[in-house]
Amino acid sequence: MGKAYSSLRDFKPHTYRRCPTRKPRQGFWLLSGIVCALTVVTLFASNENADATAVTKTALTANVPAQVNGNAGGHIRKPLTLPIKHAHEGQLLQANYIPTAAYPNHRERASTSPNRVAEQQQPPSWKSTRVRQGESLSLIFSRLGFSARELHDILALGKPASRLKRIYPDDELRYQSDSNGHLLALSYRYDDEHSLSIQRRQTGYTAKIIDHPIEHRQKYATAIINDSLFLAAQKTGLSDRLTMELAAIFGWDIDFVLDIRKGDEFTLIYEELYQQGEKLRDGAILAAEFVNRGKTFRAIRFSDGHYYSAEGNSLRKAFLRTPVNFTRISSRFSRGRKHPILHHIRAHHGVDYAAPSGTPIKATGDGRITFKGRKGGYGRVIVIQHGSRYSTLYAHMSRYRRGMRSGRRVKQGDTIGYVGKSGLATGPHLHYEFRVNGVHRNPLTVKLPDAQPLKKTQMARFKSIARPLLAQLDILKQTTTQLAER
Ligand SMILES: [Zn+2]
Repeated sequence: MGKAYSSLRDFKPHTYRRCPTRKPRQGFWLLSGIVCALTVVTLFASNENADATAVTKTALTANVPAQVNGNAGGHIRKPLTLPIKHAHEGQLLQANYIPTAAYPNHRERASTSPNRVAEQQQPPSWKSTRVRQGESLSLIFSRLGFSARELHDILALGKPASRLKRIYPDDELRYQSDSNGHLLALSYRYDDEHSLSIQRRQTGYTAKIIDHPIEHRQKYATAIINDSLFLAAQKTGLSDRLTMELAAIFGWDIDFVLDIRKGDEFTLIYEELYQQGEKLRDGAILAAEFVNRGKTFRAIRFSDGHYYSAEGNSLRKAFLRTPVNFTRISSRFSRGRKHPILHHIRAHHGVDYAAPSGTPIKATGDGRITFKGRKGGYGRVIVIQHGSRYSTLYAHMSRYRRGMRSGRRVKQGDTIGYVGKSGLATGPHLHYEFRVNGVHRNPLTVKLPDAQPLKKTQMARFKSIARPLLAQLDILKQTTTQLAER
């Protein structure tokens, strides 16, 4: 609290500390008290700005309440006391506060000044600035013409105001200044739901966090696929981000590169986030259904952010089916085929995904890198061991992701490198292998182990979330069917 308001705080201690350091001789204190009082009066007279008024008020408001309670009249009869140690300082303080009697005069005088009149009639407008590259708050303050003192006072407010030490380029700061160019108010929206508000009050600057509540509205979309998932999704007004998410939810069971057929259909319930009646952005998909080649998959989002079937089984598998997004398979797993470069028959122990050079390659499961380096015709290769049974291999990379090395742990979905054509390759592609107990298996067809299902203790809560969503999906599905029959 000591540092909460500053403009007055800074001169006050000086005033009463400097005086008492002299020898307490009888009669001297009276004199020094008067000197202090005069100093203060001079300051007030010479300093028209609100800081001075703020100081006086601070002293008053900080100390009056208790006394007012004791005095029905609300008159301040006793000298205001700050937490001080020596009685003689109390005398000095009393002297200091003589100007409080003069304060109303000061204010009256101030309010008749032309500036004040103008300010009262039309409050200063809000202006806005954006943080530039490499700019700190101190640079912004000097750019806007605010003083180092104002900056210091605001940063001295502590906790909520310390948000201003973490500003980023392009963040917006809104501010109000008075006719003298002094900072009156500062507002910083540091995330969707909160802003920091700094106001100059008569007691100095105050800082508080203001909440901006977000309203979650449920929306739905349903479509039948004619050409592609993306085209169908676009027609229903779904954003690309939601479409990608939809594909990611079902990507464990459906290969969106290979499996999509004309007539497949999907339905989803998702959230849109609104603030003060305006759309902020899309929220999460709450529930979805995908019918692929006549087979129906359903997903419900649980509070852990993962998706589960209606029975509470995880839709995730311990492995991603494909290590690259939305690519074309250029060569499948086979026990024997003609090698495109070596022109003799040899088995192809993996799947080739043709993708532009630089496409990120993802670790398909949690594991540990056991090899990183060049491997003959495979070019740049990473091998990941997943537990004791499984391992995966990624070849022909153009480069590795920074920090990848043998022994490093990776999470499912982490980017480990980028598609290229290092080694023996006719064009940029990823060669991917999946081994179970050291034996090559077809990554496209191998049965992938499931991720952990919901625990029994979570099931009641999951069911209560899932029931209404599943009922909604049923209703929406009828709509789709009617559309299809038209
Ligand atoms: Zn290959």
